[in-house]
Amino acid sequence: MLAKILIANRGEIACRIIRSARALGIASVAVYSEADANAQHVRLADEAVAIGAAAAAESYLRADKIIAAALSCGADAIHPGYGFLSENAAFARDCSAAGLIFIGPPASAIEAMGSKSAAKRLMADAGVPLVPGYHGENQDDTLLAAEATRIGYPVLIKAVMGGGGKGMRVVESGAEFAAALASCRREAQAAFGNDVVLLEKYLQRPRHIEIQLFADSHGHAVYLFERDCSAQRRHQKVIEEAPAPNLAAATRRAMGEAACAAARAVGYVGAGTVEFIVEPDGRFYFMEMNTRLQVEHPVTEMITGQDLVAWQIRVAAGEALPLAQDDIPLSGHAFEARIYAEDPDKGFLPATGTLTHLRLPQGSARVRLDSGVIEGDTISPWYDPMIAKLIVWGETRDIALQSLRHALAQCEIAGVACNTAFLARLAAHPDFAAGSVDTGLIARAEAELLPGATAPASWQLALLSLAEALDGGKGWRLNGTLRRHFDWQVAGQLHRVSVDYLADGFTVTTASACAHARASLDQGELTLWLDGQRHQARVIRHGHSRTLFSGSERLLAQLADPYAYASAETQGHAHLRAPMPGRVLAHLSNTGSHVTQGTPLLILEAMKMEHTLRAPADGVVKAYLFHPGEQVSDGDELVDFETMPQAQPA
Ligand code: ADP
Ligand code: ADP
Ligand code: MG
Repeated sequence: MLAKILIANRGEIACRIIRSARALGIASVAVYSEADANAQHVRLADEAVAIGAAAAAESYLRADKIIAAALSCGADAIHPGYGFLSENAAFARDCSAAGLIFIGPPASAIEAMGSKSAAKRLMADAGVPLVPGYHGENQDDTLLAAEATRIGYPVLIKAVMGGGGKGMRVVESGAEFAAALASCRREAQAAFGNDVVLLEKYLQRPRHIEIQLFADSHGHAVYLFERDCSAQRRHQKVIEEAPAPNLAAATRRAMGEAACAAARAVGYVGAGTVEFIVEPDGRFYFMEMNTRLQVEHPVTEMITGQDLVAWQIRVAAGEALPLAQDDIPLSGHAFEARIYAEDPDKGFLPATGTLTHLRLPQGSARVRLDSGVIEGDTISPWYDPMIAKLIVWGETRDIALQSLRHALAQCEIAGVACNTAFLARLAAHPDFAAGSVDTGLIARAEAELLPGATAPASWQLALLSLAEALDGGKGWRLNGTLRRHFDWQVAGQLHRVSVDYLADGFTVTTASACAHARASLDQGELTLWLDGQRHQARVIRHGHSRTLFSGSERLLAQLADPYAYASAETQGHAHLRAPMPGRVLAHLSNTGSHVTQGTPLLILEAMKMEHTLRAPADGVVKAYLFHPGEQVSDGDELVDFETMPQAQPA
């Protein structure tokens, strides 16, 4: 057995591998870049070695440094995780040459499957069905165009070295072919350093179903059933599940056997995934083989009760597969939702920033969280913006789906944009619930899944404001009643809310409504009764930012000018501070200007959003303390502002 393993990866997958190694009594070594010195995988591992600068090309992709680190700490083996060097045949070879075990397939198998077109030629010989297409070496433009016509439009152009949904173009007609080919080649060259392409018939409404397989060095190969990864956005997986819904047992067996045939054809050893594209009538075709552990492997672990990383380690140590085909259990149903720092309302733009608040559901036999971050960690621009994988299991698909929805509603992530509300809407979509999934589902349902930023509802503004009111703030005495105003900035719009304190609750006034409200706050859980309806939420504060979590939806708001009413009472200096770390974008007034309360003074860009800071009262802009372009920290004073005495209310 192995005694020490170095993990050539980061994030959730590094943490996940360390845990399995530990369970087997194996010591773990983390490697880390400058950006990851405090990362969870570094804290979790028994040892950690710095390997270079933040850019992956300087650290996690540096085979030489990683191998040197493994040798220096006496590791027996290297686990590459997924991404980075996991499908790099030269790295696998260098490990062996250095006397280290590469926990993955032989370099020759990685090479054989590395090019989608070479893999297809091999598969054709092994009798595995292929999508009609062209995967030849001749890359002449005219020949490719003629092949596209022969295949029949629509046609898909794919980079043969592609991955992660990149380097693909759907072409609807011959007129578009030349331009699509050129653009696909450019993208492929930039992303994979190779612009060779193949052509495939573009299938309508197919499913993506993949087989998890395992082979050992004693000639055994088994399949651990399938995963359905049809819920995709731009060819990238969003929610995966196992087993595939509505799949005939005979199809499952045929696909499993085809995957094992594919593995045998390349002398495969270890964990691998054969991806198939499946037509509505059940015909299936080989798409590609991923010669590594897949991001979505946990759904397979949940339905089989096996630890695939433990299998990988044991196979790499030379053991035979722990189970024969007929002994592999299949029980219940599992889903995985990928929680990313990205903004669905801004075209899924990756987001960066500090996870100022992170509350994920409690793990149990049914709910599993694979994450590489904790509250306070940063999602940096250097790597994949994944926050966590949420995996659930249930006796049936319906039970598992219910559990997925429930778990998504419990996720609270603040400080960084994230996709949990989008995932929850997908999990609740009737087609998804019915298991009638295909790769076009998300695109067709876009209007429902991405309703876009809407103006906040009165009850949301009331919740935000009452959270402040109940937090011990004092009422503002005006004409005999206690009243406080709150100016909320939501998606660039200012919303004023007035709260009158009454003996039996509050009167909440917004631009569109005025109603009596009752509210209570219990350990951060806020309950509001408004117009005969009960609303429940949690409000998380950070500086002047508030994140309102209700159900699986979240609302981001800024308390626009919290000093306005305190400082307007007396003449003096008001402190306009940065509500969060960010960058000053623009000054909107001039030094020395006399301005009225509410006049925009400065734009701050923080967490990918623009925030306008306004005059807290009538007064004079004495000085701007940062120039446009400068970075500021949370709480930095941005404007020196002198307030003027106000006329007393009559
Ligand atoms: P596929 O089956 O299409 O490869 P995956 O989601 O498993 O889908 O991975 C997509 C690609 O992106 C793979 O090459 C994978 O290694 C890479 N990848 C995905 N997530 C990460 C991550 N967090 N870090 C590094 N690479 C990643
Ligand atoms: P990658 O290496 O980026 O994972 P794949 O070849 O696995 O590339 O394809 C990614 C996704 O693109 C598939 O999961 C599927 O949704 C879609 N796709 C691939 N080939 C076809 C096809 N011939 N017809 C329709 N959709 C396809
Ligand atoms: Mg793929």
